[in-house]
Amino acid sequence: MNATDLNFFKVFLLEQKSSILNKSNEFKHEQASERANVSEEVEAATMELSANLSIHLHERDRMILFQIDRALGKLEDGSYGQCESCDEVIGAKRLKASPFATLCVSCKEEQEDPRNYLQ
Ligand SMILES: [Zn+2]
Repeated sequence: MNATDLNFFKVFLLEQKSSILNKSNEFKHEQASERANVSEEVEAATMELSANLSIHLHERDRMILFQIDRALGKLEDGSYGQCESCDEVIGAKRLKASPFATLCVSCKEEQEDPRNYLQ
């Protein structure tokens, strides 16, 4: 992968990371201001709903952040864009479609082949 592509992915990943971190800050802020306006009757229900949403968001964002950090680590050590299974180059085109891909198309297909589950 050339330097332009590497830089593209680095900027992309860092932007993703900061947008998730900003989003979770905004979310906390929204929750706090909403809570001040709700009556006590509906507060319990709203809080329960928010708690569930917060856990869901947190889990999902935590997973994405993990993937971003993993990809950034790979960019650092030069293994980004390399298939973890066969060491083939994954290709910038595939990575632009799925920046967290760790397998090339053929390894991915092999992994998802239902026949593998029968072994
Ligand atoms: Zn592969």
